[in-house]
Amino acid sequence: MASSWSQLVGQDHLQAGFRAAINQNRLGGSYLLIGPHGTGKHTIVQLLAMTLLCRTSDPKEMSPCGVCSACQQVAAGSHPDIIRVEKPKDKTVIPVKEFIGEQDTRMKEGFCHDLRIRPLMGGWKLGVIDDADFLNEEGANCLLKTLEEPPSKTVILLVGTSEQRQLPTIRSRCQTVRVGPLSREASSRLLREVHACSEESGRIEEAVEISGGDIHAALRLLQGESGKVREELVRHLGAAFPDPLAIAKFLTQQVNEVGKDASKRRSMLRDLFSISVQHYRQQLRIQVFQGRTLPVTSIRLDRSLRALRELDRSANQASLIESFASDIAAGETAELGDIG
Ligand SMILES: [Zn+2]
Repeated sequence: MASSWSQLVGQDHLQAGFRAAINQNRLGGSYLLIGPHGTGKHTIVQLLAMTLLCRTSDPKEMSPCGVCSACQQVAAGSHPDIIRVEKPKDKTVIPVKEFIGEQDTRMKEGFCHDLRIRPLMGGWKLGVIDDADFLNEEGANCLLKTLEEPPSKTVILLVGTSEQRQLPTIRSRCQTVRVGPLSREASSRLLREVHACSEESGRIEEAVEISGGDIHAALRLLQGESGKVREELVRHLGAAFPDPLAIAKFLTQQVNEVGKDASKRRSMLRDLFSISVQHYRQQLRIQVFQGRTLPVTSIRLDRSLRALRELDRSANQASLIESFASDIAAGETAELGDIG
C-alpha cells in the first residue's frame, strides 16, 4: 500500500497539481479522477487521504508518515473521516440509498448525510465514490447539491474509467483530473521499484506490453501460471483454422478457475482478451515486415479489441466468450455499430 507520493510513478504532474492546490489553500470541492484500469487512481485517493489526515505531517509537506494511527486507518480503509461509496457486487448501478439512506431514514444516513457530520478527528473530511461509471441519473441527482456545495475542508473524489461514461450533470460540477495510461517506461519502473518485481526485463516488458499500461493486469501476468495460460491461448488463436469450441472451452475454464467473484472473473477475461490483442498485433507486425498483410489478422485484432470494450458493458460473460470465439474462428468482426 502506497504511503509516499514517490510511489505514484509516471503521474508526477498530478502530484504537483495537488501540492499546489494544498499550498495555495484552494484544495476542496469535487474531483473526478478519470483513467483506465491500473493507472494509479486509487493510489492517488489513498495518498491524498494520508496527506490530509496524517497526524504528524502537515498536508503542505505532501509527506504523510505512513505509520501514525490515521495513516494506518487510511491504509486499512477504516478511517472514520473517509466516507466511501461503491457499487455493490450484485448491482449494476450504485443504489440511491447509498447516497441518501433508505426510504424511512431519508437524509438521515448515507453518503450525503455522513459527509456533513463534523470530522471526528477535527481535520479534513473525504468522500470517495468508487465506480462512478455506475452512477445513474437518480443517484447523480441525489449528489448534485453535495457536489456543488461541499462542506468546508471536505474533498469529494469520484473515480471512473472514462469520461464518456460520466453523466454531464456530474462532469459539470467536478474538476476533472485525467489519469492517463502509464508509459511503458513508467510501467516497468513501477513494477520493479514499487511492486518489487524481480523477473528478468524481457518478461517485465512483455507483461507491460500485453497489459497496455494497466499495472494490475501486468502484475497478474507476472504472477503464477499466466505464462502457461498465455502459451495455450496463443496456440488456440494461432491455429491455421482456430476451433471456436476449443477457444470458448479454454476461456471458460480459465474464468471458472478464479471462482465466483464477478470482478475477478472479469479481470481474468480482460487478461485473456488482452493476450489475444497482443497476439494479433504481433502477427500483424510480422506480416508487415514480411510484406504480406492478411486482412483476417486485422479483423481478428479488431474483434479482440472489441471484446475488451464489450467486457466493461456486458454482464453476460458466457455469451461474450461464445461470440468472441466464433467470430475469431470465422475471421469476422461482428461490428454492430453502437450496439452492444
Ligand atoms: Zn501519518
